[in-house]
Amino acid sequence: MYDIVIIGGGPAGLTSALYAARAGLKTVVFEKEVLGGKITTAPHVENYPAFVEGVNGFELGDMMANQAKKYGAEINYEEVTALNLKDKIKTVKLSDREVQAKAVILAMGSKNRKLEIEGEDKLIGRGISYCATCDGNFFRGQDVAIIGGANSAVMEALYLANIAKTVHIIYRRDSFRAEKVFVDRLEKVPNIISHLNSNIIKLISDDVLKGVKIQNNKTLETQKLSISGLFVAIGHLPNTELVEDQVELDSKKYIITNEAMATNLEGVYAAGDIRSNAFRQVITACADGARAAESAIEYLAGL
Ligand code: NAP
Repeated sequence: MYDIVIIGGGPAGLTSALYAARAGLKTVVFEKEVLGGKITTAPHVENYPAFVEGVNGFELGDMMANQAKKYGAEINYEEVTALNLKDKIKTVKLSDREVQAKAVILAMGSKNRKLEIEGEDKLIGRGISYCATCDGNFFRGQDVAIIGGANSAVMEALYLANIAKTVHIIYRRDSFRAEKVFVDRLEKVPNIISHLNSNIIKLISDDVLKGVKIQNNKTLETQKLSISGLFVAIGHLPNTELVEDQVELDSKKYIITNEAMATNLEGVYAAGDIRSNAFRQVITACADGARAAESAIEYLAGL
């Protein structure tokens, strides 16, 4: 029996673990993929305070995990397969066992949104990727494209420009929605070509990706781009499948909480990108995690 089970080892979950463990509670984090969550895909985090020169996202995740462990949090690489959150004692099912907890913090974050275009699934790992920092190196010296126009897409285009020969950035609106500091940089990089007001209408491939056909949504003109890599950076969908029949969600399936990170269920909290209306930054995920842990600590004290 744990005091607090935290599901998800990104900045929100790891900060919850730090606060819960420092409060002397028996705390475990279950993470099915990589500690640090989405931030591990950021080559350079420039807006997390105190790192004047920025910090590599993978290293930041690692440091957060080590800090939580230092104070006694258990961190396990295991996938949670089912949850019963409605009873006072919560049950957390793993692949080979189940554990119980007095309180649960949901910090499962979000997954990449897919383009939903014909051929996409079969080309994953054969030219299509959702993570420039993970896969960019496979396309060294080649022509690639990235689709999307917000922070992730523009940051990833800047990253890829140092590796690839040419980076086409394809965005459906007439100006990028990313922060000005990133857009200003993008406009100065000679091997990035912007295709605004444009959508991908076809993937061109044999066994592997060979190119994309794009269409300008104002002029309706089409154009083929010969590329060997396509990076999809068009946002995220919440990882709420495990809890959708128990916890109250908004229309986009993000978890609804109050300011104390409490969900509709007693002893169940949510933090970070999985939460409705969250401002999705590392620092806000950490703040959510701290608040969720503090709420859980108060709840346990009253049991
Ligand atoms: P996002 O802000 O949700 O933006 C998704 C982008 O994909 C938008 O430009 C959107 O276009 C486009 N899009 C969505 N569906 C599409 C489709 N079917 N076809 C083509 N384009 C589509 O996602 P994000 O950039 O990954 O950012 C996620 C969160 O992380 C945000 O809160 C962001 O601020 C944060 N983030 C922060 C930093 C930083 O501060 N350093 C870095 C990366 C991410 P429209 O604009 O037309 O809707």
